[in-house]
Amino acid sequence: MARIYDKAFLDSSIVPIGAATMSVASSAVLYGLSVYSVFPICTTKSGLAAFRIDDHFKRLADSARIMGIDTFERDWTRERFIETVRDLVAANTVSEDVFARVSVHVNELLPGTRSRGLSTAVSMFLYEAAPILPGGGARLKTSVWRRVPDYAIPSRAKVNGAYVNSVLAKQDALDSGYDDCVFLDASGHVCELSAANIFIVRDGVLATPGTSNDILEGISRRTILELARDMGIATSERVIDLTELYIADEVFASGTSAFISPVKEIDKRTISNGETGAVTSALKKKYREVLHGEDPRYARLLTNLR
Ligand code: PMP
Repeated sequence: MARIYDKAFLDSSIVPIGAATMSVASSAVLYGLSVYSVFPICTTKSGLAAFRIDDHFKRLADSARIMGIDTFERDWTRERFIETVRDLVAANTVSEDVFARVSVHVNELLPGTRSRGLSTAVSMFLYEAAPILPGGGARLKTSVWRRVPDYAIPSRAKVNGAYVNSVLAKQDALDSGYDDCVFLDASGHVCELSAANIFIVRDGVLATPGTSNDILEGISRRTILELARDMGIATSERVIDLTELYIADEVFASGTSAFISPVKEIDKRTISNGETGAVTSALKKKYREVLHGEDPRYARLLTNLR
């Protein structure tokens, strides 16, 4: 388990993490009616910096909007959001890369199954930036569970309650001795992992399922597509068949908590020769540099926190 920092933000103040709690009668607890995002805060030579905080704030606001949680955008601006992250970092002693988890919880008591006009509380806490997949190549299994389609629970909204789908799929993979799952959509096309997007390299083209393929619109995914284009690697967002994964030259997962994680085996098929491929290695190195402010061309993606 990753180490959690002791000071958290809840509602309007910084409190000990143990005091950052939600009522058992709130919609957040009863229905998982919260939306969230997790973003990296990295050590750079000019101090701690948050990666793509504007994109994370936007996705959080979009998730709330999709869900009809309308009090968040009324009460929170980008500036207030960034100031609160600064206050939280200042309240903790941070000298390593961490993840910030920010959530908007519907904390109204017993409103029934609805979302509009209800009170919300924002929470934020920091934890050690431990990767969720092994660095030496993950082993995946096609899930017996399908990814919840956008027409049932919106995939592009990061809704806490929707993560029971990921829990089922990840646990199924772990029970079978794998590191994670490959989620397919209702028609059998590849979506993503339980909490990361997926990329393949075939015939020199870096491909990933499109944003209308029931995936979370990952911010790392967007970054990787941008980095690849800048590096002269051809990219494609398209429908991907499961069997394409088996014969791909390279497969990797991307996400805030997965970083770029090579995949070495899927459903007992070794991907290529089982080693991390050249495109994966090059992107992994570049992504690491970008996160730590080592490439000035991408300095615009970092927000200095102190
Ligand atoms: N898909 C799912 C289902 C996720 O939970 C995550 C992690 N947030 C991702 C993809 C990757 O998204 P990001 O790059 O924004 O972390």
